[in-house]
Amino acid sequence: MAQYVYDFSHGRKDDRDLLGGKGANLAEMTALGLPVPPGFTITTEACRAYLATGSEPDGLADQVADHLAELERRRGQRLGDSTDPLLVSVRSGAKFSMPGMMDTVLNVGLTDTSVAGLAERAGDKRFAWDSYRRLIQMYGETVMGIEGRHFSEALDGLVAERAVASEVELGTDDLRGLVEQFKTIVGREAGEDFPQDPNRQLTMATRAVFDSWNTERARLYRRQERIPEDLGTAVNVVSMVFGNLGQDSGTGVAFTRDPATGEQGVYGDYLPNAQGEDVVAGIRNTLQLTELAELDRASYDQLLGIMATLERHYRDLCDIEFTIERGTLWMLQTRVGKRTAPAAFRIAGQLVDEGLISDDEALSRVTGAQLAQLMFPQFDPSAARTAIAKGMGASPGAAVGKAAFDSATAVQWSEQGEDVILVRRETSPDDLQGMVAARGVLTSRGGKTSHAAVVARGMGRTCVVGVDALRVDPQTHTFTTPGGDRVDEGDVISIDGGTGEVFLGSVPVVDSAVVDALPTAPEVDDARGGEDASAGGDTADDDVVASVLWIMRHADRTRRLGVRANADTADDARRARSLGAAGIGLCRTEHMFLGPRRKSVERVILARTDEQRQAGLDELRPLQREDFTDILEAMDGLPVTIRLLDPPLHEFLPDLTDLSVRVAVAEATGTEDAEASELLAEVRRLHEQNPMLGMRGVRLGVMVPGLFDLQVRAIAEATATLRQRGRDPRPEIMVPLVAAVQELEAIRDMADATVADIATEYGVDLTIPIGTMIELPRATMTAHQIAEAAEFFSFGTNDLTQTTWGFSRDDVEATFFPAYLERGVFGVSPFESIDAEGVGRLVSIAAWEGKETRPDLKVGVCGEHGGDPASIHFFESIRLDYVSCSPFRVPVARLEAGRAALTAGSDGGDSR
Ligand code: PEP
Ligand code: MG
Repeated sequence: MAQYVYDFSHGRKDDRDLLGGKGANLAEMTALGLPVPPGFTITTEACRAYLATGSEPDGLADQVADHLAELERRRGQRLGDSTDPLLVSVRSGAKFSMPGMMDTVLNVGLTDTSVAGLAERAGDKRFAWDSYRRLIQMYGETVMGIEGRHFSEALDGLVAERAVASEVELGTDDLRGLVEQFKTIVGREAGEDFPQDPNRQLTMATRAVFDSWNTERARLYRRQERIPEDLGTAVNVVSMVFGNLGQDSGTGVAFTRDPATGEQGVYGDYLPNAQGEDVVAGIRNTLQLTELAELDRASYDQLLGIMATLERHYRDLCDIEFTIERGTLWMLQTRVGKRTAPAAFRIAGQLVDEGLISDDEALSRVTGAQLAQLMFPQFDPSAARTAIAKGMGASPGAAVGKAAFDSATAVQWSEQGEDVILVRRETSPDDLQGMVAARGVLTSRGGKTSHAAVVARGMGRTCVVGVDALRVDPQTHTFTTPGGDRVDEGDVISIDGGTGEVFLGSVPVVDSAVVDALPTAPEVDDARGGEDASAGGDTADDDVVASVLWIMRHADRTRRLGVRANADTADDARRARSLGAAGIGLCRTEHMFLGPRRKSVERVILARTDEQRQAGLDELRPLQREDFTDILEAMDGLPVTIRLLDPPLHEFLPDLTDLSVRVAVAEATGTEDAEASELLAEVRRLHEQNPMLGMRGVRLGVMVPGLFDLQVRAIAEATATLRQRGRDPRPEIMVPLVAAVQELEAIRDMADATVADIATEYGVDLTIPIGTMIELPRATMTAHQIAEAAEFFSFGTNDLTQTTWGFSRDDVEATFFPAYLERGVFGVSPFESIDAEGVGRLVSIAAWEGKETRPDLKVGVCGEHGGDPASIHFFESIRLDYVSCSPFRVPVARLEAGRAALTAGSDGGDSR
């Protein structure tokens, strides 16, 4: 039979799968000899069995009874005894922390008879009755499903009746009366009495904790945090210790370092004469932890000693919950603590300096998401500001602008050069234009997977969602806060997409110190602790920057994946290079054909004769040559993958509607416009219902003679010219949207011939690799053939995701994606993070088959997934050669490629 229950003395911190985080760490502290109140853990396996069948698995009840008996023996008390009762807390604790999402019941074991025993033992009647009324309320709410307001109304009523400031001032008789009232409420609301059998209380409380795994808010939290649904929670049954037994008792939380800044020191809060939930409820103001030293020096010193032990043992920042019962310190919980992005980098650096962790461990303790946070502009930390409300940070950054309450206003104001924040209750596809125009988006409803959050993240707009406290009135174009602040349309507000805070007025924004420092990072290979690499800067910011630079260097030393950038201009290329890109993985050439040059392309496409077409091509060629010269020069010595023209035909043709209007007007007014009529006929002929799947990419190259040749010629000429100037240009020619090797062969034959011509013409030796994008399912399935004609593959995972799922990205992201995310069809948009099972599998097969045909085939990714941490871990696991992403994401990709190299072979893809 499975073992469902473990004593705290049997288990270690690595048993989180089975014992949950809290249980595993209680066991670890017990093993370390720290003062943990005795107890036992019911496993997540028991929870899963219970949730699957609706009843406790066989053997669980007996095992709980055995462990309870052992606990009673050790404490010399019996659960719910009438003279000296053992009381227990029943606490949830899943593998991953889900703060406040699941249930806990304290003081289990109190009954009409044992309350007297507790009063006797504690020598304090008031305390006993207070504990009892707390149990009935907690049990009533979590186990019996009674709405909390029934209890709080009764309590508030009594406080008012006695004309006292708070419940703390209620006397013993008041509390005894309150217990009677609470019991009446339970009978009335639940249709049964509050149970007087302590064992039944324990069984039912355990069930309630199991059930709380599946509450609405817990499910939502898991979806947002990407915690698997099927883990279940463990249940910890812990003998109660009391912080509310007078002024020599209390409860608190502590951190071994400041989780906000990483600063070393003593951080935490302490509340004398209180139980844990009082700290959370915030009824009374807490003391700073250092003030405990004056109240109880011995406990304070002991606590500091334990904190040092824990930090050395866990080799990381720990957060701790403790209780002091009449001068005796008890440890209720510890775990590796959450921290902000700057603190994460700073602490990793400090721990290396202290010799507690290795360089590799430091790298594994920071994430690309944290680095990205440090790279966004931020509100000036020294600027005075007061948040008027707080929601969830859904897309990072600091945005300031005039509040606009509808999309049209946002667009209008932004066209007038104003910065705008779009404020909505929630957004819908109709708000898209406004979101594009705004600096930031603020909604009072919705979570991290709401429409606003998904779309804003996709567009890189700062976004704060779910600010419940804001009353947004779309009628009057205002919002109000509970504090009475009111914002009218046009008032300036500031939003922090990291913290979720909303501020009145304009808060000054500063550029990221990390972004300023990254380009100048010396490329030396020094170890941390070396002279210039030590974290010891003048300020906390210096310290963070030094840590980031050092960890980046270690990531670069560690990673196998190359990191290139997607860049289309020389400026972008220089920027990417300064951020550590080892070349350009995708240079899109579309923008080089827009603006005034579009007319020339139109002429090429609509040409009736070879002469007309050649005239258009001749106009474009010198311009293209210049484009390529600039970009190759900026990336001198590094590869530049230039993609031949990709977009659909219609982008280069006159607008169908405009033309139709022109012709209709001409007909109506009897002024014939022959040119327009002819053009209209041609545009109609070429019109496509679904341009994304129409004449674009290589199809355009095959069908429009001379177009790709023009580009190849310009690339070859730019290369030859730079060579003659003694430079080292390294272009690679990439053909888009290939589905069949025959398409690629046609272009390749042309390109090889053209490059050879130019080589002869300029008298230089030119070899330019020619490869293809792999962005269609057919290409992935025929990769072994395509590799015959390609020297490299670059996976266009944007199009490959569209075509594999059959999604038109522009349509689906703004319409049903939020609903799909909400319903868990996927945990994250497949455009944001690679769908490893589907799209990723195609990539993996194609890369493998391609290399079978051509062992030296270079394989990379240039879709947006190239800059996404989880995707990078996947690409490392299938051993691609490089990723390519937007310049700003290059540092994130370098860091994650380093982290992925560390975990490759273990989990392959966990970048949590
Ligand atoms: C892709 O499809 O992944 C890609 C990089 O090309 P584009 O986004 O330009 O279609
Ligand atoms: Mg594409």
